[in-house]
Amino acid sequence: MSANKLVAQFRDPEAARALAEAIRARSTRPIRLMEFCGGHTHAILRYGIPSLLPETIDLRSGPGCPVCVTSAADLDLAIALAQVPGAILTTFGDMVRVPGSRDSLAKAKAEGADVRVVYSPLDALRVARENPGRPVIFLGVGFETTAPMVASAVLAAEAEGVENFYVFSTHKLTPPATRAILDAGEVALDGIIGPGHVTTVIGAEAWRFLPDEYTIPVAIAGFEPLDILRAVLALVEMVEEGRPDVSNVYARSVRPEGNPAARRTMDQVFEVADAEWRGFGTVPASGLRLREAYARFDAARAFPMEVGPAREPPGCRCGDILRGVLRPPDCPLFARACTPQTPIGPCMVSAEGACAAYYRYGNVARRTAHVARRT
Ligand code: SF4
Repeated sequence: MSANKLVAQFRDPEAARALAEAIRARSTRPIRLMEFCGGHTHAILRYGIPSLLPETIDLRSGPGCPVCVTSAADLDLAIALAQVPGAILTTFGDMVRVPGSRDSLAKAKAEGADVRVVYSPLDALRVARENPGRPVIFLGVGFETTAPMVASAVLAAEAEGVENFYVFSTHKLTPPATRAILDAGEVALDGIIGPGHVTTVIGAEAWRFLPDEYTIPVAIAGFEPLDILRAVLALVEMVEEGRPDVSNVYARSVRPEGNPAARRTMDQVFEVADAEWRGFGTVPASGLRLREAYARFDAARAFPMEVGPAREPPGCRCGDILRGVLRPPDCPLFARACTPQTPIGPCMVSAEGACAAYYRYGNVARRTAHVARRT
């Protein structure tokens, strides 16, 4: 089957309408669901999913935007690392525009720092090979999906004897952040739409703690409209039947055990550590740092930095949005002072940010809602 036909299978309007009808038929009471993943937030708004759902279903965005949850303190450190004499700071594109406490990497670059956008950690390793006399630091952001790739780059650097390659790890783990939201109790959730890409690595069973410990169902979803509607239906059914469980509606990519080989690579290089998340503060055992055996690749140890106290962009409610307490339009700056052209916080900068999604697709969502209600 061609790729186009495969995708069309998951965007079929008739099937979407049938799923929406099934959701309406099964819903008897208000429920609030959180989509953990920023990719889901964008897909939900892009395809006008809220307009297909009964008004009793409240969808909240979660902390699944790696750029957004990178703390201002870590960004300040990254900016300081970019200013190490002779250093080349490499990272993914979105990170360059994200504001730290005072500056951004873009500003540091404009003032002379060598900041380069790369598409993978192996690109950063290539830069290190091409510049043997200069420290090349890769700012690693991302969840369990990205960390194995960074671990592979470290192993490759070790195997090749590349001595000027360093990683500044701000990698984070998704289940501890989900626990932090539920433990805080700021927002009552009835179910979680589980992150599809992350779960290809950690496995659907990694979410078993949600039904077992929190009596909350989780449905692992892909990123096409039918994937998301199927996940919502599975969650509604489990909530209505009082039967919390792990439902994997993304079985074409996600296995119960995930990807053990990727996890082994990640575990070989990284160990679990406390991590600071924007909007959360320090979340215990929610981050990854390089193991002692790979300490020579650790930028934080090779170039210890002191930076001043971190602060959030004034007025930005990104932290509340990442915890699901607010929705982007609840921020007084949304679409006024803060737009994709003039972003104030990371949730508007990042391609996976909730504010960017609401801004970009807000009109589409409203228009689709209008059409859906007429039909
Ligand atoms: Fe922050 Fe802008 Fe989002 Fe408001 S709209 S929370 S200022 S990123």
